[in-house]
Formats: sequence, structure tokens, C-alpha cells
Amino acid sequence: MALYERVALIGLGLIAGSMSYAMRRAGLAGEIVGYARSAETRAIAKEVGLVDQVYESAAEAAEGADLVVLAVPVGAMEDVTLEIAPVLKPGATVTDVGSVKASVIAAVAPHLPPGVHFVPAHPLAGTEHSGPRSGFAELFDQRWCIVVPGDAETAAVDRLIELWKGMGAYVDTMDADHHDLVLAVTSHTPHLIAYTMVGVADDLRRVTDSEVIKYSAAGFRDFTRIAASDPTMWRDVFLNNKEATLEILGRFTEELFALQRAIRQGDGDHLHAYFTRTRAIRRGIIEAGQDTAAPNFGRTPGKSG
Ligand code: NAP
Repeated sequence: MALYERVALIGLGLIAGSMSYAMRRAGLAGEIVGYARSAETRAIAKEVGLVDQVYESAAEAAEGADLVVLAVPVGAMEDVTLEIAPVLKPGATVTDVGSVKASVIAAVAPHLPPGVHFVPAHPLAGTEHSGPRSGFAELFDQRWCIVVPGDAETAAVDRLIELWKGMGAYVDTMDADHHDLVLAVTSHTPHLIAYTMVGVADDLRRVTDSEVIKYSAAGFRDFTRIAASDPTMWRDVFLNNKEATLEILGRFTEELFALQRAIRQGDGDHLHAYFTRTRAIRRGIIEAGQDTAAPNFGRTPGKSG
């Protein structure tokens, strides 16, 4: 049975597309409509049947919707909220899928009219691809989605949780600041390190490009996959999760200096103890069934933002 009669997806990229296919797979929505900013994305969305109807403005898509999903980069959340706020139906739920929570809540919540429920969420699932051709129904299967209930009404929160479970995800709830710290450790800082490592390789002229590509399986390849992620999305993540990312980056730098010293001093015991500790974390991830990367279903590489 449909959980929401009309769902409006604001932004039609990887996450919105995957939500649309996953909702259809489980019959969770009566009608799914969408809005994208560029004519090109709207044309592709129509061509691939990403939603039932595509609108040229966010307000037209959101009008009459029971659930409105903000699926644009974090830095664009406030502008789209200002556009849709006047047309939102009383009793509707607005959610977002932004990778940062505290700053999105601060950008969105003040503009929503009374009687509209705001239930932020963040699916911990993605690929390095983006755009209207990149979504697929299985993206959220057995992945976690973090819902941030705040002071939203329980019934609205429960229904959104049911939606995410229906799309295949496991659901946890937490507050926004804690979410941002957890994600700074598990996602944001690792992405920054990957961007840096790929940048270093690019700068190192003593190693030729062909050598970097030929020998990439030695570890570098995984960094390049992460560092191929959408530039706009990741710029916005760092600008909006500044404090937590800087906190984790500070700790990372201290640990790196300690390892650097151990290497310089030939302190094998330190290195061995450190790597033994980190290996145990990997085992924990495997035991929790979170070790496989999201399947890549042969999607074309994402456009840059
Ligand atoms: P995406 O594939 O790049 O799609 C983004 C969509 O937002 C596109 O339709 C784009 O329109 C639109 N957009 C971009 N800038 C806009 C602006 N200034 N105003 C209005 N619309 C704009 O991105 P995504 O990966 O689905 O990410 C969407 C959200 O999900 C982000 O907040 C991101 O933090 C979050 N998220 C991403 C992942 C991930 O791994 N990718 C995982 C979890 C959550 P055009 O195509 O017309 O430019």
C-alpha cells in the first residue's frame, strides 16, 4: 500500500533517482513527480522515466505533495525551500537527503510553514556517479539511513522511517550534531584524504601518469574511485560540516605525524601495534555486512557539478 499518495523529488540525481526506483519497486508511492534545475536533466529524466512527471519549477512539483524530498546539494537546500514553502500542503512532510544535517536543518526549518512536518534524513549509500542516469533501485538495500527526528511529530517520523525500510534500508535515529561528527569520521574526512592522495600523485612528476594507472591496483585505485565523486556535492559537504571535519582532520594529522616519526625512528613495534588495531575495525565492518561497495550496474561516470 502506498505510504504517500504524491511524492515530489526536488533534484533528480543519483539519490532522487534511486529513491524513485526503490519506491516503485515496493509500491510505496501513488505518484512520483520531480523537478530539476537544468533542461538537460529534465529531458533525461523524462527519457529514462525517472518520475511520472517532470516540472520546470520546484514549486509546481511540490504543490499538493504529501512528501517532498530535497535531493539537491547541501548548499542549495535553502533556495529550493524558499521556493516551495508557499505552496506546501498542510500536513505534508518535507525531508532532505543531505550528507550534512545541522546546517541543512538551520537552512530549511525556519522557512517551513506551520503544519508542515520536517524530518531530515541521510541515506549512507552512494556511488561516485551522479546525475539523472546514475540511480538504481538497489542502492539502499541493506545500507543504513539516519533519520533526525528533532521535535517532529512521531507519526510523521514513523511514516518516513517506514518509507526508508520499504526502500531496503536499515534505519537509525540520532541528533544532527552527532550525525555530523559520525559522518566526519566515516565519510567526509576519508573523502578529503582520497582527494589529497590523488592530488599528490597528480603533482608527483617523477611518477608518470601511465605508471600511476598501470600500478593502481596496489591501493591507489580505491582512492581514485572516491576522489571521482561529484565536486559540487563534496564542496558543499566540507563548507557545511566545517567544525566536525576540522576536528577529525586535526586528529588525523596528529596520528599521521606519530606514524611518520615511527617510520623515521624505525619503530616497528609501534607500526605493528597500530596496524593490528586498525585491522580489527575492518573485521567489524565485514561482520556487520557493510564491506561491499555499492554495486555499480555499469552506470556512466557522473558529470562534474
Ligand atoms: P546529483 O546526482 O549530482 O544530483 C543533484 C541534483 O540537484 C541534480 O538534479 C541537480 O540539477 C540539482 N542541483 C544541483 N545544484 C542545484 C541548485 N543550485 N539548485 C537546484 N538544483 C540543483 O547529486 P546526489 O548524489 O543525488 O546528491 C543529492 C543530495 O544527496 C546531496 O545533498 C548529497 O549531499 C546527498 N547524498 C549524496 C550521496 C552520494 O553518495 N552521492 C549519498 C547520500 C546523500 P542539474 O542536474 O539540473 O544540475
